[in-house]
Amino acid sequence: MISVKFGGTSMGSAERIRGVAQIVIDLHKKQPAVTVSAMSGITDLLLKAAKAAITGQKREMDSILFQIQEKHLTTIDELVGQKSLRQKARDHIAAELTHLEEFLRAIAIIGELSPRSHDEIIALGEKFAAFMLSVHLEDQGFDAEYVSLENIVELGVFDKVDSLFFTTVQENIFSRITPILKRKGIPIITGFFGRIPGGIVEGIGRGYSDFTAALVGRALAAKEIQIWTDVDGILSADPRIVSETLILEELSFAEAAELAHFGAKVIHPQTIWPAVEKNIPVRIKNTMNPEAPGTLITKAGKHNTCAPFKSITAKKNITVVTLSNMTKGKHETMAEIFRLCSEHGVAIDLISTSEASLSLTVEGSEKKVTALEHQLKKFCTVSITIGMAVLAVVGEEMRENIGLSGRFFSTLGKVGVNIYMISQGQFEVNISCVILENDVEKAISALHTEFFSPCPLPQKS
Ligand code: ADP
Ligand code: ASP
Ligand code: MG
Repeated sequence: MISVKFGGTSMGSAERIRGVAQIVIDLHKKQPAVTVSAMSGITDLLLKAAKAAITGQKREMDSILFQIQEKHLTTIDELVGQKSLRQKARDHIAAELTHLEEFLRAIAIIGELSPRSHDEIIALGEKFAAFMLSVHLEDQGFDAEYVSLENIVELGVFDKVDSLFFTTVQENIFSRITPILKRKGIPIITGFFGRIPGGIVEGIGRGYSDFTAALVGRALAAKEIQIWTDVDGILSADPRIVSETLILEELSFAEAAELAHFGAKVIHPQTIWPAVEKNIPVRIKNTMNPEAPGTLITKAGKHNTCAPFKSITAKKNITVVTLSNMTKGKHETMAEIFRLCSEHGVAIDLISTSEASLSLTVEGSEKKVTALEHQLKKFCTVSITIGMAVLAVVGEEMRENIGLSGRFFSTLGKVGVNIYMISQGQFEVNISCVILENDVEKAISALHTEFFSPCPLPQKS
């Protein structure tokens, strides 16, 4: 079997869903288990509705619910020919939306939104998308079955997201999907899984459907995990920043994981580890251009011959925390920092130390960073700089390429980009540095021109 995932843009309209259905039908012989994301824009609307409920903006809430309803009902009408099936889909959407409305009204009264309630609200986007695709396939005579992973783990059994949690998720996915595949049916799975401890947005992050598809692939020992999106593959830079980019033919697991970690939105950062564990190749494909080969991610990867690395990426919304006047010894300070970051759910990316100070970049909500700052202040002076970004170039080609870092930094210097922190891992898969968030576009464009001009650049956006 193969695990196949379609993103929000791919599911964005009746026409697009038709295209997705055709791709699924073409893949039928390979026994696809299909995971889908919400129609583009729907998760944002659901998050807005939750916010409106909690802040008591009832009119805004009603207007959002109406928009969600209209978008889905129109799509169903365009998508489903058989009257009884169309009615089934309309009734399903209406019932779920009535439930959501009641739920949001209750939240407005209580004035409190737990991570679990939050999950219940945003799950709807993936539930609707999966339901519509399954009914559309049914309408065309295929044995498609809608699978909601919303309750794939029993509520309250786990209090944290750890390897045991993921093992249970995968075991339950296996028993839920296997009977469908055995009878040659097509499971259409919600990209939302579980109502996870701490909430899926906080715990896994937006774009979680990629990760769900990877878990499905790992659970069912897929031959391949395919992530279908709106670009021809992983590119040498974000196409919204650089208009002519190189489509990367093959990357290693390590490179793809680094790229996703450093902000390349095309795959969710957690997509790679389930694939690594079972050595399952991951392929990125374009729904709007299914003939294109896409990008293949494998254990070994393949070297780029026209540039000294694979891709440039950046992660915005980074805070630099600098500690000085530390009252504890260095080892104690380090231990305390890691403990506090873990306690507050704040991820550290880069660290730089000297005798007098220690700087680290953290990612996390303002609330979490403030809580961390408060704790750190107990044993040192803390200075916080917001509005920063981590810029990274990624590629195994860089290993032992003497002089590359010099070229990297001088390119940034030439366009007036100041560098606040620098890091390079021992495996030399990436070079990363901290720059101002406002310099990201300028930095990426300059680096791309410097390093990728010898490459054939077919992708124009
Ligand atoms: P989906 O809805 O299919 O999950 P996303 O919007 O999450 O799609 O991811 C695809 C988008 O990622 C592309 O449209 C592109 O703008 C962006 N992107 C950022 N960096 C890269 C990159 N290096 N390669 C390809 N796409 C990238
Ligand atoms: N729809 C969800 C989001 O926007 C999940 C996904 O697209 O994978 O985050
Ligand atoms: Mg995505």
